[in-house]
Amino acid sequence: MLSRRDVLAVSAAGAMMTTSTSHAASFGNPDQPAQGAINAKGPGNLKDPGPQSEAIGKQFPSAQFPPATDVGGMPMDWASFNNAPKRVQNGGWARQVTQADFAISNTITGVNMRLTAGGIRELHWHQAAEWAIMTYGNCRITVLDSVGRPYVADVSEGDLWYFPAGQPHSLQGLGPDGCEFVICFDEGDASEFNTLLVTDWFAHTPPEVLAKNFGVPAQTFSKIPLQNLWIFQGTLPGDLASDRAAVSNAREVPPHPFIFRLGASAPVKESKGGDVRIADSTNFLVSSNIAAALVTVRPGGIREMHWHPNADEWQYYIKGRGRMTVFNTGPNAMTMDFNPGDIGYVKRNLGHYVENVGDTDLQFVAVFRASRYEEVSLSNWLTHTPPALVAQHLNIDEATIARWPDNGPGVMPSS
Ligand code: MN
Ligand code: MN
Repeated sequence: MLSRRDVLAVSAAGAMMTTSTSHAASFGNPDQPAQGAINAKGPGNLKDPGPQSEAIGKQFPSAQFPPATDVGGMPMDWASFNNAPKRVQNGGWARQVTQADFAISNTITGVNMRLTAGGIRELHWHQAAEWAIMTYGNCRITVLDSVGRPYVADVSEGDLWYFPAGQPHSLQGLGPDGCEFVICFDEGDASEFNTLLVTDWFAHTPPEVLAKNFGVPAQTFSKIPLQNLWIFQGTLPGDLASDRAAVSNAREVPPHPFIFRLGASAPVKESKGGDVRIADSTNFLVSSNIAAALVTVRPGGIREMHWHPNADEWQYYIKGRGRMTVFNTGPNAMTMDFNPGDIGYVKRNLGHYVENVGDTDLQFVAVFRASRYEEVSLSNWLTHTPPALVAQHLNIDEATIARWPDNGPGVMPSS
């Protein structure tokens, strides 16, 4: 059972070719020793008679039948929220993928959270900076900045928020059906289950100290919760204007918003194949330590071959079916499949591309622990290098090289 994605291979003798049903090309697999299903000769080679889960296996055709151009082995670059245990409480739930679950992800921890209408993620703060993208519904955020200025805003699908490390905040699901979102912390070993909670501090402070601190009688604190709330069902807040009025109290407002409407922003790159939207500290000024790219790829299109010189890439797949290949020295090349709710990871400077292998739009968000978004496009590089020099490397004539895209297209349509 050969994968239809196997390209034609030319054997060492230069003659033995195997047919392919798609994207056939007459160049082949250079591996020594030869790797890939294309090289398997006998009928038993590709049998997989041992125990397996067909349901899981079917989601990973590229792992089971790697393209012939894959070579060697690389650390696992796939993880998922789909199999991350949910911590459920009345008001919502959260699940997370930390570096303990996903070894190569040492720069980012991912959290997926749902809050009901009125559901509250308790007032808290933490060591890491928090970046998030809304994937469903409506949410109200509150935060106090480092010089004591309050900020309240409402966000919906495609919007981001950013809370610098240590700045205290809360989240609450709004009507009609609460919200869902994905949080990224700028540390691989952060945890949503281990944050500094306002209820914990109250419960673990002597009442007479609370009385002195807040200037009220100790009896005021007789009914505080003795266990933390973390996520709990609350009542829906009033409109945004009244919450803003209630917190501002003649205080200055922060000079820059803590939210950014990435989904509704103008693409920085756009083609028939899709588009790329960017949010980093140049347009989302408070996001000093996270840069992000929201990528949409039409069916058959490809997020072009590229790499990032300044940070690892953490990906969250939102829609559609993607297949990513990562290239490293060695050479090593590894292809994996990604579905909605999955996470991908690419180390800094490793070459990669993502194909839309489904029949609907593919969308994913790429998150970087960096203040600025940076990428190097392979075609942009090779079309801005003396053509004779490039031609000598690849045995391709200069006239053909002149037809390659020279604008770093971001996404290329199916050819
Ligand atoms: Mn938080
Ligand atoms: Mn990338």
